[in-house]
Amino acid sequence: MAVSDSDQLVDQSTEIESTEESTEESAKSESGFSGFGLPDSLLEALERCGYEQPSPIQAASIPELMLGRDLLGQAQTGTGKTAAFALPLLARIDLEARLPQVLVLAPTRELAIQVSEAFQRYASCTRGLHVLALYGGSDFRDQIQKLRRGVQVVVGTPGRVMDHMRQGTLDVSGLQALVLDEADEMLRMGFIDDVQWVLEQLPTQRQVVLFSATMPPEIKRICQQHLQDPAEVIIRTQKADATRIRQRHILLPHHQKLGALLRVLEAHGPGGVIIFARTKAVTVTVAEALDGEGMACAVLNGDVPQSLRERTIERLKQGKVDVLVATDVAARGLDVERIGLVINYDAPFDSEAYVHRIGRTGRAGREGDAILFLSHRERRLLHSLERAVGSQIEAMEVPSDAEINQQRLDNLQQQLNDLLEQPVPQERQQEVALMEEIIQRLSRESSATPEQLALAALRLAQGDQPLLVVPQPQQAPRQGRQGERGERRQGGGRPPSSMERFRVEVGWRDRIKPGHLVGAIANETGLDGRQIGKITIFDDHSTVDLPQGMPPQLMQSLQRVRVMQKELHISRIAAV
Ligand code: AMP
Repeated sequence: MAVSDSDQLVDQSTEIESTEESTEESAKSESGFSGFGLPDSLLEALERCGYEQPSPIQAASIPELMLGRDLLGQAQTGTGKTAAFALPLLARIDLEARLPQVLVLAPTRELAIQVSEAFQRYASCTRGLHVLALYGGSDFRDQIQKLRRGVQVVVGTPGRVMDHMRQGTLDVSGLQALVLDEADEMLRMGFIDDVQWVLEQLPTQRQVVLFSATMPPEIKRICQQHLQDPAEVIIRTQKADATRIRQRHILLPHHQKLGALLRVLEAHGPGGVIIFARTKAVTVTVAEALDGEGMACAVLNGDVPQSLRERTIERLKQGKVDVLVATDVAARGLDVERIGLVINYDAPFDSEAYVHRIGRTGRAGREGDAILFLSHRERRLLHSLERAVGSQIEAMEVPSDAEINQQRLDNLQQQLNDLLEQPVPQERQQEVALMEEIIQRLSRESSATPEQLALAALRLAQGDQPLLVVPQPQQAPRQGRQGERGERRQGGGRPPSSMERFRVEVGWRDRIKPGHLVGAIANETGLDGRQIGKITIFDDHSTVDLPQGMPPQLMQSLQRVRVMQKELHISRIAAV
């Protein structure tokens, strides 16, 4: 839909953003998770996490899951889907029973760890609740011991979970709920038969939750077979008109966000900026960092009382505050003309939130800039946002020293120009007249030209602080993952001599694809997918290039890893 003012870019069917006019006053009273019937211990943990409002997927899923229904959710990482299933499932756990009641299957060990950590955070105020992550590459016996001591929630990768189930070390007889997280990724990585197997071993009375960003036929089939009358939750995308806003994104790991933010702000130059973060805690951390850099910034989140919010917005309008760090709810309806840049420091939960956020710039017919920080896991979100706004969100790099220096020089010139045009205020006139005398005396008594005098004055004003950035080794953001399906090329510029070629005993006849091998090897060894080099698939075997010097224990553990139900039996062929 093409609408000129982004405030009206609301899909009538959900009315998620339809409370623009009531702005902030409702932020706190409506806030939160209190209407779902979650126990106090979970609400307390959410308060500690700094979550103000349920994300759309949470608002739609939690009530259904609290009723015990199966659920099919179409949503990707970054939408808040973990809490959407973790909270209602945690709410129904029997703490007296020390056996697994919730099992989550995740495609990678990275995600399994992330999800188990999220469960732990949400359970942090619930005594006696134990969560365990089970993934390949970590000590089997240690996992068995922890299972014996009693855990109620298990989060794992399919292969390792299957191993424990086969050995009888993971008892699923008391299981109430199974979650298949990122089901399409599990399919892509060749785990779908394992998932089927796990499903077949579970008690018939159980709740099944399946989340998938896409719905390929194999996933639909699983849903038909194993989900009973599921509630369906889809995070929609909507079309929006954002033609006045230049939209870009930066791909970067989490720990580089703050440094990148400072650079983006510097390179952008003066003007109003809004930075969006997901939680109150992040708004405060970011504001403190900006404050430390001497920027005029303020925080707007659900903890800020209404009267102070109004004052803050007024100060932003007047230019007394340049940078506002806000959560979505607190910035709802904000209309300040001088906002030239919106930074999505944390990615939004969905396209509605994105459209709303970037609509804070480009007001009153002005041009605006919007920059989105994305981690590699959140890359899929980019495509749905692009679909929603109907245009590309260009890639950009973290601004370089040269760009920042140029901006500093431009600022200096602008400040001098402004000063030249401003009349001297009454109370400073006498002082300025004395300064003028010094200049006149100097130009009479020394041979300095007016330019030299002006330069000396500038250097004096600058003091010891260098005007330009002191060069540091450039921290380039990580670029996109290489090697999609099919033949993979050598990883990230790695010289071929640092790789070795291995043979694995699975091939075309086992229906494997390169992605299956990458998934299995990365999960077992902890290697980053990009460190896995060329993969060639033959009829009854395949070859894989891995970094030289893989530790013997890892090679040993790779022997028994299964892909498409067959063990790899990996063996070294040669250096490449
Ligand atoms: P997920 O899509 O589950 O990976 O969640 C993405 C990120 O959003 C995680 O960092 C969560 O901690 C965070 N998150 C989830 N729900 C909320 C919420 N209601 N408010 C703020 N942050 C949230």
